[in-house]
Amino acid sequence: MMPYDYDLFVLGAGSGGTRASRVAAAHGARVAVAEEYRVGGTCVIRGCVPKKLLVYGAHFAEDLKDARRFGWDVPDDLHFDWDRLRTNVLAEVDRLNAAYTDTLNNNGVTILHARAEVTGPHSVRLSTGEEITAERILVAVGAHPAIPDFPGNEHGITSNEAFHLPAIPKRILIAGAGYIANEFAGIFHQFGAHVIIMNRTQEILRGYEIALRDRLLQISLMKGLEFRFDAKFEHIEKHEDCLTVHMTNHEPATVDCVMFATGRIPNTTGLGLEAAGVELDNGAVKVDADNRSTCPSIFAIGDVTNRIQLTPIAIREGQAFADSFYGNKPTRVDYGCVPSAVFSHPPIAQVGMTESEARQKLGSVKVYSSDFRPMKNVLAGRNERALYKMVCDGDTDRIVGLHLIGPDAPEIIQGAAVAVKAGLTKADFDATVALHPTMAEELVLLR
Ligand code: NDP
Repeated sequence: MMPYDYDLFVLGAGSGGTRASRVAAAHGARVAVAEEYRVGGTCVIRGCVPKKLLVYGAHFAEDLKDARRFGWDVPDDLHFDWDRLRTNVLAEVDRLNAAYTDTLNNNGVTILHARAEVTGPHSVRLSTGEEITAERILVAVGAHPAIPDFPGNEHGITSNEAFHLPAIPKRILIAGAGYIANEFAGIFHQFGAHVIIMNRTQEILRGYEIALRDRLLQISLMKGLEFRFDAKFEHIEKHEDCLTVHMTNHEPATVDCVMFATGRIPNTTGLGLEAAGVELDNGAVKVDADNRSTCPSIFAIGDVTNRIQLTPIAIREGQAFADSFYGNKPTRVDYGCVPSAVFSHPPIAQVGMTESEARQKLGSVKVYSSDFRPMKNVLAGRNERALYKMVCDGDTDRIVGLHLIGPDAPEIIQGAAVAVKAGLTKADFDATVALHPTMAEELVLLR
C-alpha cells in the first residue's frame, strides 16, 4: 500500500526544482513536478542564459570597432539585425527547454504542465482540477519582477519582455540600478539605444565594492549612458509613439521604452501555503538549514525563499534537499564565499567581503589593488581601465574578499574564488608565478 500518489511533489521546474526532482528520482523516489510555463525556469527561459547570449551579441559592437586597430577593415555602415539575434537566442532557449525536459523524463520524473496550489501538508491541486497527494512537497516556484506602484506603470516592461521586443528602442529608461539594470543598460547601449538609468537612491549596485561601482559609473558615463539619481516615479504619460516619464528631482524624460529592474518578489501569492501552516517572511517562504518550512512536510528552495537569489544556489539547495531526504546523505548548503558577477560592460565580479564589510567585521584589514589598462584596450585606443582589489585579514593575511572590474572578470573570479574559499593568504598568491601576459596575472602581483 502506498499512502501517497508520489513520494515528492515539486512545484516549479526551474533550476532548483529540476535538480531536486531529477536527483530524488535517481535516488529511487516517485517524483512529479508541476510547471505552469516552461521547463527550465527563469534562468534558462528568461534570465541568465538568454541575457548572457545578448551580452555576447552586444560585445561585438565594441569588438568590431576595436578590430580596426588590429588591422581589420570593418565597414563604417555596420548593421545590427536584432531579429536575427532574438530568433537565434530564442531557438537556443527552446533547445535547452527540450534538454531539461528530456533529463526529467529520462530520470522517470512525471512532468505536469499545469499550475499547482498547495491544499494541505500533503496535497496539491492542479489547475486542471486534479488533486494529488505526496509525502513531501517542495516549493521551487521562484520569483517575478517587482513593478513600482504608480500611475502609468502598465506602460513599462520587465526583463521578461526584453527578450521578445519587436525592435530595439531608440531611447530606453531603465528603472533600478542593480544587476538587471546594469546588464541591460550595457546590452541596449551597445545595440545603439540611448539609455537612461533611473534609481531611487544615489547608488548603483548596492552591496558591491564601492571602488568598482564608481569605476562602472565612470565608464558608463564616458560611453554616453545617462543616470538619474534620487528619482522616484510620479507618472508615465503615454503618447502615440513614445512615453514621457515624470519623476521627482529631474526633468521629465521622453523615451520609447521603460523597463523595470527594481528587484524580484517571491511567487507565493495564491499558492495556498499559509493555509497549510507555511509561514512567510515578506512574501518569501521561511525555511531552516534543511530547507524545511514551518510545515514539516513542505520544503522550499531557490528564489522563493529569498536567501541568495542566484541560480547555482538554487541548484545546490535542490541537490542538498534530494540527497538529504532520498539519498541518505544529509547535506546543507554552505553560503559562505559565494562568488557573483554583474555582466555589465565591462563586467564586475566578486567573492567574499567588501573592504567596508571586512573593516566592520575584522577591525584590521589590509587592502591591495591594481588599477591598469588591459593590453587589448591599450592597442585598441580604448580608455577603459580595469580595477582589481584584494581585501585581507590584517592579522592573518588571509584573503577575505576579491573584487574585479574589467574584461572577463567573471571568468577570472571563478578560479580565484576557489583559493579564497580555501582560505589562502596573500602570500600564497604571491608565491604563484604570474602567467604572462594576462589580466589575471595582476592577482598575483598586487601591491
Ligand atoms: P537588485 O536587487 O539587484 O536591484 C534592484 C534595484 O532597484 C536597486 O537599484 C534598488 O535601489 C531598486 N529598487 C528596489 N526596490 C525599488 C522600488 N520599490 N522602487 C524603485 N526602485 C527600487 O534587483 P534586480 O531586479 O536587478 O535583480 C533581481 C535579482 O536577480 C538580483 O538580486 C540577483 O540576485 C538576481 N540576478 C542576478 C544576476 C547575476 O547573477 N548576474 C543577473 C540578474 C539578476 P537601491 O538598491 O538603490 O535601494
